[in-house]
Amino acid sequence: MQHRIWLMSLIVCLWTISTAARGAELVERKTPSGTVVGYKDTPLLPSTEGKYHVHDPDRPLPKHVETNPADTGDEPGKAPSDAIVLFDGRDLSRWKPSSWKVENGYAEVSQGHSLLETKEPFGDCQLHLEWMAPTTPAGHMMDRGNSGVLLMGLYEIQIFDSHPMHAEQIYPDGQAASIYGQTPPLVNACRRPGQWQTFDIIFTAPVFQDEKLVKRATVTMLHNGVLVHESQEIMGPMTHRRIIPYQPHAAKLPLTLQGHGSPVRFRNMWIRPLSQ
Ligand code: MG
Repeated sequence: MQHRIWLMSLIVCLWTISTAARGAELVERKTPSGTVVGYKDTPLLPSTEGKYHVHDPDRPLPKHVETNPADTGDEPGKAPSDAIVLFDGRDLSRWKPSSWKVENGYAEVSQGHSLLETKEPFGDCQLHLEWMAPTTPAGHMMDRGNSGVLLMGLYEIQIFDSHPMHAEQIYPDGQAASIYGQTPPLVNACRRPGQWQTFDIIFTAPVFQDEKLVKRATVTMLHNGVLVHESQEIMGPMTHRRIIPYQPHAAKLPLTLQGHGSPVRFRNMWIRPLSQ
């Protein structure tokens, strides 16, 4: 039930991102290569010692690192023998019914803001997935390859087309591989739209005792083989323009992929639950 409430808040949050929040409060910072779009009327992030706001366009953009698309090849890799294969290109039978479509070996976000949620719950885990941003993004730049990996349905690793070929960039805590609204990646390892990209995520779930948080969630992560987070603490559930505290929840919850109105594609998804 609690998870359902979170999902409902997430949908409300997505709606907010897409509509009201695109209003006058969006600001731009000019850079030598273009602009960074974000907000300055949001709370200050304690993790930045009060230096930057949530979604602050003034926060430095992580340096871009070129990664060779041939590293992953045109064919998806194979899962380790002890992994649970979440999607091998054929069907979404490990996921709850959704409007996402499967074709040509990939799953694609359908129209609108539909979520894709695993039937099985997971806690601590190693997760691999491959995604591709569309080459012809439509709509607002905030929709450009926008999706996300919601660990436990709550803690988001952002998917976004953050390649520096674009003159307009989203705020650093909202770019690809950021812990959304909190922590930008160490570097920007984003490939061009239309190229497959890999996420390899090692996640430890938060720990609650007697309804109190005793350990925050953490993430260590490679984007296209490049380290982008190392034992990085997650400050709380994903939200937009705010900071919200942890709420006690089960040790395992379904993994969710975010639909954000952009036809982002996924393939080769597998997970290795880790002992807790
Ligand atoms: Mg997202």
